[in-house]
Amino acid sequence: MANRVLIISAVAEDVLALRDALGNARDGPFDVDDVPALDPGLQRLAAGGIDAVLVNLALPDAQGMACFDRLHDAARHLPILTLCDLDDEAQAKEAVQHGAQGWLSRGYFDNYLVPQALRNVIERMKVEQRLYIAQARAQITLNSIGDAVISVDMHGSVDYLNIAAERMTAWPRDEARGRPVAEVLEIVDTATGQAIVNPLEYILQGDPAAGIAGECVLVDRRGRHIPIEDSAAPIRDWNQRLVGAVMVFRDVSRNVALTAKMQHLAQHDFLTNLPSRVLLNDRVSLAIALARRSKAYPVLLFLDLDKFKHVNDSLGHGVGDRLLQAVAERLLACVRTSDTVSRYGGDEFVILLADERHPQDAALTAEKILHALATPFLIDEQEVHTSTSIGIGVFPFDGTDAAALIKNADTAMYHAKERGRNNFQFFHQAMNQRAVERQLIESNLRRALEQGEFTLHYQPKIDLQNHRITGVEALLRWIHPEWGLVQPERFIAIAEECGLIVPIGHWVLREACLQAVRWREAGIPGVSIAVNVSAVEFRQRDFFDHALAVFEETGTDPACIQLELTETVLMRDVATSADLLARFKSVGVKIAVDDFGTGYSSLSYLSQFPIDVLKIDQSFVRAIDGAGGKNGAIVGAVIDMGRNLHQRVIAEGVEDEEQLAFLKAHECNEGQGYLFSRPVDAVLMQAMFGTGIPV
Ligand code: C2E
Ligand code: CA
Ligand code: CA
Repeated sequence: MANRVLIISAVAEDVLALRDALGNARDGPFDVDDVPALDPGLQRLAAGGIDAVLVNLALPDAQGMACFDRLHDAARHLPILTLCDLDDEAQAKEAVQHGAQGWLSRGYFDNYLVPQALRNVIERMKVEQRLYIAQARAQITLNSIGDAVISVDMHGSVDYLNIAAERMTAWPRDEARGRPVAEVLEIVDTATGQAIVNPLEYILQGDPAAGIAGECVLVDRRGRHIPIEDSAAPIRDWNQRLVGAVMVFRDVSRNVALTAKMQHLAQHDFLTNLPSRVLLNDRVSLAIALARRSKAYPVLLFLDLDKFKHVNDSLGHGVGDRLLQAVAERLLACVRTSDTVSRYGGDEFVILLADERHPQDAALTAEKILHALATPFLIDEQEVHTSTSIGIGVFPFDGTDAAALIKNADTAMYHAKERGRNNFQFFHQAMNQRAVERQLIESNLRRALEQGEFTLHYQPKIDLQNHRITGVEALLRWIHPEWGLVQPERFIAIAEECGLIVPIGHWVLREACLQAVRWREAGIPGVSIAVNVSAVEFRQRDFFDHALAVFEETGTDPACIQLELTETVLMRDVATSADLLARFKSVGVKIAVDDFGTGYSSLSYLSQFPIDVLKIDQSFVRAIDGAGGKNGAIVGAVIDMGRNLHQRVIAEGVEDEEQLAFLKAHECNEGQGYLFSRPVDAVLMQAMFGTGIPV
């Protein structure tokens, strides 16, 4: 499309000459409009479509610079050339100062260069216009984005900041401009706090791959620290010569906060907000690494709340949770801030005393903890009691890495539990061997029942007046396919702890009943068989019903069965025990108190139980010939007591004649021990019923 020129001139011949020159231009004609005065000229401009204006500043309605300025105001973005006389270029030059692009001198209107010059002027104006728009667009964009932008010249002096950069650095653009970039944009390493060379400076030195490695923070003019992420790039001129650099950076505090929060969540227990296992492991490893240098002995305390399950079951999980939180608080109060209290899982806590100089001091902390937890907790307005068992492992004696230390502290904790809870134990290597053996036995025990590896041996009880067999005690034996005979001492306690004692006890009772029946059928009726019952079995809800079912199923007369229970078992819950014993009595089952004298039974309670037999513990019998009369006196007293309670008294572990003589002299009813017979298998026992005891 042809360029359109507006000629504003009252000189008709000028108009004609220009129309002629422009209308017939060789390299493409112009469209030409003309008006004789400024006002119609302004109207025409307002209508649009004009690319350049030629004006004679001597118009009927306006003259000189006043005329030019009005025109220029109306056509700021258009090239304006003035038309002047050859000898009067002064006004034309003044117009250029006011914004005109140039002038045409009368006399040269028909010069072939005129159209070309006009075309150049129009083109240049259009380019400038585009440039202006591009710049405006860039300006607006830079100021509306959230990222901060800063640019420097070749000398590293700031020449531009966008609004975000002004905000982040707290430097107004005008003040920042011309200052060294390091002053406006102070960056330090997050971890070390050391100043970092500004990436813009690297770029100016010709390093194209500049950027801040790692995490850094911007220190603004007021000293505020803002974590940032950045990228920088060089600015080059059209010859690819470096003329400056630009850096874009953004405030990443929200990301940093979010990351930190997620990291915290991953490393902490949500219930107590204590460090989790993962973090604990890190801390232990760190403490170990530092210990080698600082001559410290990092100590691990492994805690397990005693009977926490009971709290959970009886008071509900809500109370359980709050108890854990409250315990966590008290634990924190027992240690130094440099120590780590972590929740290891469930009701287990592990405490790292990172900086212990004397490992024995760990005992003080452990005692402090036991003491701290001894005060009842008030949760939901109810008192909750708890205590804890603590195992202690010390680096480097009990392990040289986190895993080993934790494991051994855990083992020691189990030991503390065995020692009656609410105490602490330092780890000893022997515990580990025990733990291994224990594990081995437990896994083998599971198989033993299925594979029928158990058998019962029988030891006779003898009437001391006439040496007749009054009955037998059934004693469990485990014939392991590889280990051979395993004594109950090695496995009963373990079976009790892992609960296997219940099915094992079922088997024992049933086997004893079956044996009673077999002997009856072999012509030896009414053999009384004593069966040992452990605490765990006795506490089973269906213990009585199950026993009754076994009597029924095997066709056993309950009167042939004697249950042996220790004092401790009976005393644990006197009311339940009394009730249970009464039920057994009602069906004819006999009750014996085993290991009598070793427990803490209160005689007044004992007298309330329907007890048939007191079995005096071996230790007393053994003492008869040991320290002479003194210990014998105890046995004598126990025998008298049994007689007063109208119970039969049996002495266990009778090994020699001296003991026998003493027992007889004190009118003890029965005896049981190697002197008469060791425990033997059912076949030998059956033979003994025929031959009697050879004493
Ligand atoms: P206990 O009930 O006190 O059984 C008596 C233990 O003393 C038996 O050991 C027996 O062999 C041993 N003994 C008998 N006479 C003498 C003697 O003159 N001298 C010495 N030194 N020892 C004698 P055993 O069979 O090794 O059983 C040990 C413990 O294991 C039993 O002590 C009992 O508490 C438990 N136990 C055995 N069988 C069973 C069972 O079937 N169920 C349960 N729950 N526990 C059992
Ligand atoms: Ca017994
Ligand atoms: Ca006993």
